[in-house]
Amino acid sequence: MKKFIAGNWKMNGSLAANEKLVHELLDRVGRPSCDVAVCVPCPYLSQLQSLLGDQRLIALGAQNVSQHESGAYTGDVSAAMLREFGVRYAIVGHSERRQHQAETDTNVAIKAKRALEAGITPIVCVGETQRERDEGLTDYIVRRQLAAVVHLVGPCISEIVLAYEPVWAIGTGKTATPEQAQQVHAILRKQLQAATEKAHTIRILYGGSMNASNAATLMTQPDIDGGLIGGASLKADDFLAIIGAAK
Ligand code: PEP
Repeated sequence: MKKFIAGNWKMNGSLAANEKLVHELLDRVGRPSCDVAVCVPCPYLSQLQSLLGDQRLIALGAQNVSQHESGAYTGDVSAAMLREFGVRYAIVGHSERRQHQAETDTNVAIKAKRALEAGITPIVCVGETQRERDEGLTDYIVRRQLAAVVHLVGPCISEIVLAYEPVWAIGTGKTATPEQAQQVHAILRKQLQAATEKAHTIRILYGGSMNASNAATLMTQPDIDGGLIGGASLKADDFLAIIGAAK
């Protein structure tokens, strides 16, 4: 399966910084052996759509999508709106949103469904906190988070991208070991196998302090099909090195 590297810029960037970063990426990315996307803040979608143009090496993604189709939801951005800006992927259920915006498993599942209905691939994030890991709840938490999405989208589950992002590894510099990550990825793959015959085609990304030095080893694991990259996606050298490691 072709690997997938997605950058999550989070709430970072400026018109000038984005232009510099995207030019560097496009100039130096060559012919990557993996799929690549950058998930950017909504105000920059138009700028990114124009910077990325017609090339097919780097796709455009968003970091969230409304669970509603349209109407009186001040501040929300619908899947159909994202689609108008050429968005191909939308992160849903990032732990920062589960934590700070109190998004529940059900909210996340509805968002995944809305994205799919609009022809956008949701990158569904699941992951446990340090406390949950310490209490031996990792498998239960990630399975519960994924189950909500499987339940709502049914057979369309084969069209998602899944990302295992242990909360304790996000932005902390503490990466899961390849064995720790593989163990959870295998559990998620098994859960997907119970839901669809196409489970082997669903990409399961690892996210959490993935960087140029640990990316290659993480991606040698059998069920790690790429990475969701936060901090390191903001630096062209680092992001390009990770893309280069995804063979
Ligand atoms: C993320 O925000 O999805 C993430 C993985 O962040 P970082 O790579 O900075 O840990």
